[in-house]
Amino acid sequence: MIRHTKIVATIGPASREPDVLESLIRAGVDVVRLNFSHGKPEEHKAVAAAVREISARLKRPVGILADLQGPKIRIGKFESGGIVLQNGDHFILDAKCELGDATRVGIDYKNLPGDVGPGDILLLNDGQIVLNVVRVKDSEIFTTVREGGELLDHKGINRQGGGLSAPALTAKDMEDIRTATQIGVDFLAVSFPKSASDMYMARQLMLANGGHALTIAKIERVEAIAALEEILDASDGIMVARGDLAIETGDAAVPSHQKRMIRLAREKNKVAITATQMMESMVNSPTPTRAEVSDVANAVLDGTDAVMLSTETALGKYPVKTVEAMTRVCLEAEKSAPITLDYDFLNRVFNRIDHTISMASLFAAYHLKVKAIAAFTASGSTALWMSRLNCGIPIFGLTYEPHTHLKMTLFRAVTPMLIEDKRTEHAGEIRHDAEQQLIDANVVQKGDLIVLAYGERNGMAGGTNTLSIVCAGDHFTSPNWN
Ligand code: PGA
Ligand code: MN
Repeated sequence: MIRHTKIVATIGPASREPDVLESLIRAGVDVVRLNFSHGKPEEHKAVAAAVREISARLKRPVGILADLQGPKIRIGKFESGGIVLQNGDHFILDAKCELGDATRVGIDYKNLPGDVGPGDILLLNDGQIVLNVVRVKDSEIFTTVREGGELLDHKGINRQGGGLSAPALTAKDMEDIRTATQIGVDFLAVSFPKSASDMYMARQLMLANGGHALTIAKIERVEAIAALEEILDASDGIMVARGDLAIETGDAAVPSHQKRMIRLAREKNKVAITATQMMESMVNSPTPTRAEVSDVANAVLDGTDAVMLSTETALGKYPVKTVEAMTRVCLEAEKSAPITLDYDFLNRVFNRIDHTISMASLFAAYHLKVKAIAAFTASGSTALWMSRLNCGIPIFGLTYEPHTHLKMTLFRAVTPMLIEDKRTEHAGEIRHDAEQQLIDANVVQKGDLIVLAYGERNGMAGGTNTLSIVCAGDHFTSPNWN
């Protein structure tokens, strides 16, 4: 059975050794996430090299996603490594403080005092500690502790309701974009973008460094929810970054944001990754909770392209078991995923020949109940368009472009296949080879009805202009209509 939903796994101390990486990939990981909030450039490079080697050896495409840290606003260090705050305590966040104690601590983001005022609520350590801002004077933010707890060095700060002015790309991010392009990553995720211009800037920097990655905007600020459409237009995809988003919008608002984000992404021909705490309990337990199983299944039903694992695979005790559990849950959920073709199909607007062929292929495949759709694609667009609607039929993205081959690892329902470059030869022969490849891969049998979409001028991006419906490997037998 072909799984349609893709699995993204974050690599960390629990998974960066080549044997664990190989087990993760064998268990079904489609995209590996390098989290630039942690680790050194050399460590990310080593993981990427191992992934490329394993992927080539197993003949299984695995995409690499670099996730930039962004302006995560953090406290500084304490003399003692950490303190415990009690409810009602007075506590100062001070941009000028070097080493913190029980009464105050420094902040990495020096503009914070200018961004907050009396009545604001600051959330520390992923929302576990809650501070009420009482007043601000120069470099000092005076607060009272509403929810206390243990506070360790370098924990993150969020403001409830958003509104912090920190730019999305820090100096570290710019350096990390260089590292990511040296690695040759397939996807670049930008943390905390507020607007389309944050995404343009990241893309321009990546291109200027010679990169080719698809850009992913992590939606984790209140401002990004309001600017979702323009951010989508400026990106290739989004991540529903539920960890930080829950802090900024309140946790209860996240499920409906998730549904809207995934729906809008697909409408705009963009990809969506659903992230954070999907199988959190598996950090310490070999099985997921019932609630986690439902969460993953519901993301599949929402239409997400991919589900993502963070701590579970980076630091957890059971990284491989977690991927196996996710695989199992996705496969089962896909059986009941709604076929959206009938409802959405007529509302789609398309005015390009290649897009029209993609839509027509989908429609034909759905009504004829064919075994597979094969799309010859140079840039990946044809396969992307086809996968924006769920017609329930597997799509094979056939390409001779190695970068395109890897980009398709994130597209829902698309199985990427690298084919031999024969663009100078006759289209009929190329088609025949493709059919044979699907038969050899055991995804269709000789005589099965399939839909092929291709360009008569093979290999030209945007050149898809032909749709043919054939019996695989057997053009001389007419289909058995009964
Ligand atoms: P992070 O992003 O894991 O880099 O914080 C994802 C999220 O906030 O959900
Ligand atoms: Mn985040």
